[in-house]
Amino acid sequence: MNPVNLGKGEENMHTDGNGRDWEAIRTDFPLLAREVNGKPLIYFDNANTAQKPIPVIAAVDGFYRRHNANVARAMHALGAEATDLYEDARERLAMFFNVRAEDLVLCSGTTFAINLVAYSWALPRLRPGDTILVSRMEHHANIVPWQLIAERTGARIAVAEILPDGRLDLDALRKAMTPDVKLLAVAHVSNVLGTVNPVRDICREARRHGIVTVVDGSQAAPHRKVDIAAIGCDFYAVTGHKMCGPTGTGALWARKEHWRSMPPFIGGGEMIREVRFEGTVFNDPPYRFEAGTPNIAGFAGLGAAVDYLDSVGLDRIAARESELLAHATEELNRIEGLRILGSAPGKAAVISFLIDGAHAHDLATLLDLEGIAIRSGRHCAHPLLQYLGVAAACRASLAFYNTHEEIERFVAAIQKARRLLG
Ligand code: PLP
Repeated sequence: MNPVNLGKGEENMHTDGNGRDWEAIRTDFPLLAREVNGKPLIYFDNANTAQKPIPVIAAVDGFYRRHNANVARAMHALGAEATDLYEDARERLAMFFNVRAEDLVLCSGTTFAINLVAYSWALPRLRPGDTILVSRMEHHANIVPWQLIAERTGARIAVAEILPDGRLDLDALRKAMTPDVKLLAVAHVSNVLGTVNPVRDICREARRHGIVTVVDGSQAAPHRKVDIAAIGCDFYAVTGHKMCGPTGTGALWARKEHWRSMPPFIGGGEMIREVRFEGTVFNDPPYRFEAGTPNIAGFAGLGAAVDYLDSVGLDRIAARESELLAHATEELNRIEGLRILGSAPGKAAVISFLIDGAHAHDLATLLDLEGIAIRSGRHCAHPLLQYLGVAAACRASLAFYNTHEEIERFVAAIQKARRLLG
């Protein structure tokens, strides 16, 4: 599907160094044109969820207008169309991540995906004395499932610590890869610090030690090219709504040998081949792990989202976002009393920050009055904020459709809020 309004080659339009028309790309996102509190919206909460371009909205709308039926079960034309759309999304996601479609389980998002690994891979395997290594910078979705499994199995949780600039301490991580460690859970990109972890090197090292790796790709997939095959992990989880797709969509990739050895996590329709009261024969992966009616319209939208991201170009998106990040960081660093959490080289466009004497929620509320959406709080990463000694922080997270002018308005609004907060 072709995205609308890419406006390539048109005259008299602002273009960036890549020759792409970012202003026109921005008009693909209708919500960005609205006002909030009487001011033009500035949406800087992209790490929370991304906005949706017209092709995604059209795909969801088109599904309900023209194709709505259930997948797999129906022997009629609409059922076949719905099934095709759903399977097509799997194929497109697989191409996007450079993996095989049959190794990709579609699910509701990263939270479900990591729980699937926890209950289906880890629960039957882990024993007392085993260790689950989790990085300090994980989102709760990559901490709490492991705690639940540790409680049930007698395994323990160990923490891979970070350095002052927000990088993972790779020397410490290497030393922590002792024989008792069975699983390593690590984010590709931190949702608080913006740190981009060298997951390829980490997974290679873990593999040498026989440690299974679970990479949380929630914050990576929408912002840079992710080649799961090249990373060499065991499991990779993504969530569709952060990739400009609908909420309630996502995927878990695993190596074929893991899928083959994993029992089902949730039972019901779609995941079986034959059911008798004496026992059930399960379907093959990936269907074995997709019980019940999926979010078919959502996956039609997610298929359109990956096409859209591809058409804009992941390398261009990454370059655009790092340019916006550099601008925002420079401007914010000029504000007295403002401290940014995380300055790892090559970090993603996620800026968590604090201002002396201003509570994060107060600041976010004042910015909202200016039409600016940021997140404030603990960002589903309590252990990280505890470690940093921070009760709550603001977070501005940028996307390719944001602009330099928005950054300037944002900085001016912070200055104004700071004066008001005294
Ligand atoms: N992991 C990271 C790093 C995240 O940023 C998020 C969402 O904020 C999640 C996991 C959870 O994603 P979802 O709620 O879509 O399952």
